[in-house]
Amino acid sequence: MSITFSPEALALQAKAREIAEKYVRPKAAESDRERAYNHEAMKACGQAGLLASWIPKEYGGSGVGVLSLCMIVEELAKADSGFGVAFAVNALGSFPLLVGGTEEQKKRFLPRVAKGEALISFCLSEKFAGSDAGGMKVRAIEDGDGYRIYGEKKWNTGGPVSDLYTVFAVTDPESKSRRISAFMVEKGTEGLEIHKVEPSMGIRGVPVSETHFKGAWVPKENLLGGKPGHGFKHAMATLDLARPGVAGQAVGAAQGALDYATAYACRRQQFGQPISGFQMVQQLLADMATQTEAARWLVYRAASLADARDPAVTKISAMCKCFATDTAMKVATDAVQIFGGYGFMEDYPIAKFFRDAKILQIYEGTNQIQRMVIARNLIKEALGLTHLEEYIPTETQVDYLPETNPA
Ligand SMILES: Cc1cc2nc3c(=O)[nH]c(=O)nc-3n(C[C@H](O)[C@H](O)[C@H](O)COP(=O)(O)OP(=O)(O)OC[C@H]3O[C@@H](n4cnc5c(N)ncnc54)[C@H](O)[C@@H]3O)c2cc1C
Repeated sequence: MSITFSPEALALQAKAREIAEKYVRPKAAESDRERAYNHEAMKACGQAGLLASWIPKEYGGSGVGVLSLCMIVEELAKADSGFGVAFAVNALGSFPLLVGGTEEQKKRFLPRVAKGEALISFCLSEKFAGSDAGGMKVRAIEDGDGYRIYGEKKWNTGGPVSDLYTVFAVTDPESKSRRISAFMVEKGTEGLEIHKVEPSMGIRGVPVSETHFKGAWVPKENLLGGKPGHGFKHAMATLDLARPGVAGQAVGAAQGALDYATAYACRRQQFGQPISGFQMVQQLLADMATQTEAARWLVYRAASLADARDPAVTKISAMCKCFATDTAMKVATDAVQIFGGYGFMEDYPIAKFFRDAKILQIYEGTNQIQRMVIARNLIKEALGLTHLEEYIPTETQVDYLPETNPA
């Protein structure tokens, strides 16, 4: 398969790089220290059309796609990983509309996101339902021409600055496969309340909140797809499309840390020479660069499959999320090592890269969950490997029954 970088995608990438250097990097330390959202940079992203990139033309976007989203997030995260997610969460929040919304819903909500008029976030996780999102308890109960939502959502990235919330809630507690539905909830809805803003270790420039629903009423027109019971399916399809975006954030975070480490290694002198002259430092830099480049191309491949809506995207999306985010953590750790004692200090930029990297391995599905998704898909695909059976001694084999396999 081919990965095509359209002229539009390259132009948006160049814009993102410009915005990153003009509005994001100069504010990264302050935004982290003060836990301040960079509204100026987000406004610039909206004006430059970056928030329109993954939204199809018929809904007010530019239709450039998920690959373009990843290239943009990479540029922004290179300057500040926290700003990368502040941006990317708008894709996460709007993908459920794209995969499951009615035409009317897409036309009503998506143009506002594309123009940068409305920031949007994603409310799936709860205190007792993280990896096991299907175990959620937040309820949506029919009331007249709409639903009332009750309960608490945990870890709503961008919640305090959002205008729109994509909220997953249980509409049929008795059903096994159709328990959950998704709703669009607008800021200002009575009963929608932002509670605790989390005291996070990293990505401090983007507020992550508990978002509570105290009988918040939404009209039936805001039930995604117009029919209840499809929310879990929409959430999973959303994650397939969104995970390359987190992975793009990770590639940017890794590249940003590598760039600082390389620049520092060429200037820091010990034993009368720049530390970049020492082979062990060179080995660190070489491995950091190689892993970052490998992660980048896995992200581009996953994003291209996402744009093609290829069924293989689930496995590759999980692979790129897992590999790129593990890479970002490793590269950030090695970058601190290259900075030595200064890497541990908050007045140098690299400690923030280290703190920001950890969350990448946790949100949008922990990397343990990604590995489960990858392995499950491999096991399903094992049906295509029967031609290998004759090469494996028979006493070690049992009949392969995929439906009874514990994975
Ligand atoms: C800063 C931040 C921002 C977030 N933003 C959002 C957001 O915008 N919207 C949203 O909906 N959610 C968001 N989340 C939630 C995030 O997606 C969850 O934290 C994540 O999915 C893990 O859930 P958990 O924290 O409950 O951990 P748990 O599910 O309790 O997992 C704890 C540990 O057990 C492991 N584990 C769990 N199940 C298995 C298994 N079956 N096999 C192997 N290991 C397993 C996990 O990998 C992990 O190591 C955010 C979280 C954070 C911290």
